[in-house]
Amino acid sequence: FLSHSLQAKMSRPVQARRLEGIDKNIWVEFVKLAATYSKVNLGQGFPDFPAPDFLTEALTRALGGGNHMLHQYTRAFGHPPLVKVLAQFFEKLLGRDLDPMTNVMVTVGAYQALFCCFQALVDEGDEVIIIEPFFDCYEPMVKMAGGTPVFVPLRPNPPKDGKLMSSADWQLDPAELASKFSERTKAIVLNSPNNPLGKVFSRGELGLIAELCVKHDVLCISDEVYEWLVYDGKQHIRIASLQGMWDRTVIIGSAGKTFSATGWKVGWVVGPDRLLQHLRTVHQNSVYHCATIAQEAVAQGFQRELMLYGKPESYFVQLPKELQKKRDWLVQSLDGVGMKPIIPEGTYFLVADISPFKSDVPDVPNSDEPYDSRFAKWMVKNKGLAAIPLSAFYSEAHKNNYTNFIRFCFAKEEATLKAASDILQKWKQEKTS
Ligand code: PMP
Repeated sequence: FLSHSLQAKMSRPVQARRLEGIDKNIWVEFVKLAATYSKVNLGQGFPDFPAPDFLTEALTRALGGGNHMLHQYTRAFGHPPLVKVLAQFFEKLLGRDLDPMTNVMVTVGAYQALFCCFQALVDEGDEVIIIEPFFDCYEPMVKMAGGTPVFVPLRPNPPKDGKLMSSADWQLDPAELASKFSERTKAIVLNSPNNPLGKVFSRGELGLIAELCVKHDVLCISDEVYEWLVYDGKQHIRIASLQGMWDRTVIIGSAGKTFSATGWKVGWVVGPDRLLQHLRTVHQNSVYHCATIAQEAVAQGFQRELMLYGKPESYFVQLPKELQKKRDWLVQSLDGVGMKPIIPEGTYFLVADISPFKSDVPDVPNSDEPYDSRFAKWMVKNKGLAAIPLSAFYSEAHKNNYTNFIRFCFAKEEATLKAASDILQKWKQEKTS
């Protein structure tokens, strides 16, 4: 018995080397904190309002409409009706012919699209440029593929006239960006509109990135999940439409963000076959595909949007209008309590300066944890309001660069935003009284 139990205890390391240093994840921690303590959750990025009726009705129809094959496997690289309508839709957006079978692939959310890109395109020793602050999974995904992330920051240039900062005031330094490209650079990750700042990259900024990609023969992984969430009449420009970029760009999208149904986990990639063929290899050998029935309903959602393209009834026209009102409301409310917001040009996130509230949450000198992280934890535990620290969107080396900011998600019902504002107002009064 004794020798048997000794044998059963493994002594060899069980963890694959590729997981070293990437086991911590802020979402696990903050989602748990929000679930335990929050009365109002403006943390993780998902709407608390319903998905549009036309989408949920499409799902109900798919479920009960008599086509029992919708409960079975479908084509691995995307349910045919979905890839067909995505191809038609993106043909319109990009002004080029697309083959639904080779230029489009459906994934388990944009998350799996990103995973396929890094696994398929990044080799041991390759460098991948990531613009900070960034959606946090890019870094561990590059590392898991054996690549080395190389960071380049968006630097804030606060307006001199005392006006609120805009996400447009966070900019790349062209010389600094150029200095990050080298022989070893395989790809750059672009996320416009950007999570967490809400920055919508301008044509000039995209042109600069495109020029460097062409000059150094570098791929562009373009995460455009917030493509429809752009405000104040700004335009989302697709880098793939710039000269020389189609051939080297993979566009990533998400039905979760597009149709306010993040739990469905339907995403896609659009790009040239010479890149997508390798993504298909990863996809084929990992998850195979996501739920057929969700793909069917998203296909119907896109058919509707194709018909109503650019019209006032289109969800892609209505959603940003609604969200812009919510953004403006939250901007005003945060400004009112002195938590200065950085006005986002896009996405449903807003980053705000916590300085006036810092005296309630003392710093711990020499702690490894950035101050904003401690602040966000204190706020959810003591005030019941969940938000995400900006430092979570920086690499380990740069996580202490900006520790005065937290990110709020404003894709929320009016009542939720009002409840958040009430918490902050009450807190401010307690401080001043
Ligand atoms: N990219 C960005 C920039 C995101 O913010 C998110 C979701 N928060 C994703 C990708 C993942 O999207 P999905 O839920 O479709 O996997």
